[in-house]
Amino acid sequence: TKTAVHGKGGIGKSTTSRNTPVASARRGKRVSQTGCDPKHDSTPTLTGSPTPTIIDTLRSKDYHYEDARPEDVTHEGYGGVGRAEAGGPPAGAGCGGYAVGETAKLPKESNALHEYDIIPSDVLGDVACGGPASPPNHADHRTTITDNGFDASFATNRTAASVREKARMHPLRSAGLIGNRTLKRDLLDKYVEACPMPVSEAPPPTEHIRVSRVKGKTSFEMVESQPHPNYVCDSHPDTADQALSQPEGIAPKEVSDRESSSSLSDSHSNPIRSEGGGNDQENLLDPAKMIRDAQKSAHE
Ligand code: ADP
Ligand code: MG
Repeated sequence: TKTAVHGKGGIGKSTTSRNTPVASARRGKRVSQTGCDPKHDSTPTLTGSPTPTIIDTLRSKDYHYEDARPEDVTHEGYGGVGRAEAGGPPAGAGCGGYAVGETAKLPKESNALHEYDIIPSDVLGDVACGGPASPPNHADHRTTITDNGFDASFATNRTAASVREKARMHPLRSAGLIGNRTLKRDLLDKYVEACPMPVSEAPPPTEHIRVSRVKGKTSFEMVESQPHPNYVCDSHPDTADQALSQPEGIAPKEVSDRESSSSLSDSHSNPIRSEGGGNDQENLLDPAKMIRDAQKSAHE
């Protein structure tokens, strides 16, 4: 199964895409995660440090795609999960979207895809055109990461529209939504009522998850070395099982932008207060503390 993972920037696409494959690998599946973001930050937690990106590899071969072998672009990471990063031009130069579009083809052309049962592609942003729109052309499913907020729901609706459109020409279907950092589900439920889709859970706001990224580890690896709340990894096997069950998926019918703005903004103008957020929530909402913690973790 090839799954394109989308959602608003910062919603947790990379976090979810790097942890679910570990759960799938523990189910005995061969998994390869592809980061399709020019900032190439999706998979380094699987190896503890960055490895050459597809663009690096192509550059070293003078852009002769036919000279690239699967092992040049896919490297083995934590838990036996394969990992590849599209990469892109230096920031501010060239077109990252174009690079993503081009590199999405390479694993297919180099026959790297046949070696795996599951291939999640972690695609930047919620953009529905250009390079970031091309991984879904090669995918069976689109999964969208969202939360209980207005912006993520709006982006979710845009990605639903793009699946509906692409499903006319490609076998792409929506496998549904994964709610990350959701303490409450009212807005998310309201959206799904308007645009029916399966919803599964990712962890609530969790300080350990934020730290795991800074430390360059998946949540599963963090759990091995430090005491953690149980729920940090609990949802990933369920998400993996859902993907492994190879759902038929749906061609969603999005709501109009105007309708989604007005219905979702009703909730937006009445801020949702967290329930039982406890310390994790307070920590995450204190930017000064987040910076101090990140600096402290980086030195540990
Ligand atoms: P995206 O790939 O969608 O841009 P990331 O997965 O990089 O987003 O997540 C953005 C930031 O939020 C990262 O610092 C990540 O560690 C943090 N994060 C993601 N999910 C959670 C969570 N459930 N609890 C706490 N922090 C999280
Ligand atoms: Mg990302």
